[in-house]
Order: sequence, then structure tokens, then C-alpha cells
Amino acid sequence: MPMTEFLLPAPDLSRWRAGNTGTEGVWRFEGAQPGPKVAVAALIHGNELCGAWAVAGLLEQLAHGLRVRRGQLTLLLCNLAAFDRFDPGAPDASRFVEEDLNRQWSLDRMASASSLERRRAAQLRPWLEDADLLLDLHSMHEPGSPLLLTGTLPRHVAFARRLGLGGHVVIDAGHAEGTRLRDFGAFGEPQGSAQSLLIECGYHGDPYSRHVAEDAVYRLMQCAGCVDETALPPQWRLDTEPARWSLTVTDAVVARSLDFQFAQPWRNLEVLPHQGTLIGTNAGEPVLSPYDDCALVMPSLRQLRPGVTVVRLARRTALQD
Ligand SMILES: [Zn+2]
Repeated sequence: MPMTEFLLPAPDLSRWRAGNTGTEGVWRFEGAQPGPKVAVAALIHGNELCGAWAVAGLLEQLAHGLRVRRGQLTLLLCNLAAFDRFDPGAPDASRFVEEDLNRQWSLDRMASASSLERRRAAQLRPWLEDADLLLDLHSMHEPGSPLLLTGTLPRHVAFARRLGLGGHVVIDAGHAEGTRLRDFGAFGEPQGSAQSLLIECGYHGDPYSRHVAEDAVYRLMQCAGCVDETALPPQWRLDTEPARWSLTVTDAVVARSLDFQFAQPWRNLEVLPHQGTLIGTNAGEPVLSPYDDCALVMPSLRQLRPGVTVVRLARRTALQD
């Protein structure tokens, strides 16, 4: 597979890495008036730079007079150890140090403390677990329009739509490998009220992914009312059409071994019109589309290992107004 050019530079985070909470990379600001507890997470994956740009940009604003007026705002630069190893010549190598930080969000994994990422999840947990609204900024292995990953609970879909972001809503249950931050604790409780959104802002190396992340941060600040939005850089707000389609993930195709091939060089969000179309072979077994009009969500072999999700299969539905 040809490498897509990596054009987004790594931001200089030296000013922001200490944080103001005693936990490296974690910043918290309290407003004088009551309001929601809002958290913005970036660099859960060390090579996903768009979120680091957006969070550093917001920290810059806060250092130059922007005030949190209502509620509480927590900004988190999550896997700095992986980010420190970022090399534009080998961008996939700095996704994590020992294991994927976005699969370690369960109490047993954190308690085991058996990897750098499990220990980091345990450090970050107190700053995230009581948030009312969580935005988790990510980017993708391959080019494509933004994806709003909501999990399966309707309140998270409502949150994504309230933000009015562009792209596609993806309703999915996560990964067999472990729990994502966006589904952790209160965010995953069926009867709860905490809302979370994971946004995939585009290809990791696409400079536009930074603008998508800034737009998401701007819209969250507007939606939560924690800062005076007129004090934010107006160019952060993109004039995009809000998402019109939801993709309900029905299957996650998990590689059984390193012997996984796609039948074609699939692009993200490709829709296969006919049931039974060959998608790929998994340890010699054919993987077929299970129904007509099956959408392929984030097909990628960049992180191929046994147990890794290589593509998700989804039914496409128009979002109602
Ligand atoms: Zn990611």
C-alpha cells in the first residue's frame, strides 16, 4: 500500500506538557459560575497530531486572556510518551509505546499497571471520569471524511448532532481488544447522563485534520458555554454541512493472524451494493459482505496484528431532522 504523504507537522508542546494539576499533560480551569464539566482529550494515540494542535491552540488562548466562565474545563495531552517518539518518516510507529491506550479503559487493566499505557490510563482517570461532556480527538490511518464515533447509546448520537459537526455518525460498540475512553465508566452506563464523542478528524498527516479538530473544540465550547465563544479565533469554526448519515456498525472484522488480505484496495466509507461481496481473506477464510449496501468503515492493515480490528461493516441510515 503506498504511503500517503504526511504533511501535518508535530506541534511544539514543551510549554504545555507540565500541566497545572500535578499530572503531566493535564490542565484544569474552573469557572466562577456553575456549568458542565467538560473534558477534551488529545494524543490518546501519539501520532494523531490534529488534537494536539487544537488543545495547544486552546491553551494558548487561555494563556492570553480567554477565561473559563462556567463549569470546569479539563484539557488532556494523553500519550506524551508515544508523541515524544513521533517521526514523520514512520508516523505509525508512535501510535503507542507498549499497547494501545484506547483499549485500556477498564479498572482491571488499569489496576494491573502492566504497561506504560495502563499506568497512564490510571493517571488520567481522575481527570476524566466525572466529565459531563467528553470530546476525544483522533485521526485516521487513511484519508477520508471525519467520523463521529458515538458508541451505541442514543444520548451520544444526540451529543454529536448537537455539536453540528460534519462527516458521518458511526454507531459502534468498540473493539474486542479492550474498552475505549469514550465508552469508559459513566460514558458507557445505559441510564447515565455523561456524554462523549470520539471524532476521527481525517488522515493523520492531513493539515486539514487540524482544522476539523479546532472546529470540534470551538463547537464544544459554544455548546457547553464554558468560555465566551466570541473570544475564540473565528477561523476555527468551519462552515460545514452537519452529518447527514449514520452508519450502524454490525460487525468488526478482527484479524486472526498476520495472514489477512483485502480483496481490493478499499477506501473508507465505500458501500458494497451486493450481499456476499468478497471483502478479504482472514487466515485463508473469505470475509463476505453480510447484507446489501454494506459500508466499510476505516479499512486498514497499517496496524495488522492478531486481534486487531481491520475494518468495520455498517448499515447506512439517513439521520432525521
Ligand atoms: Zn486514534
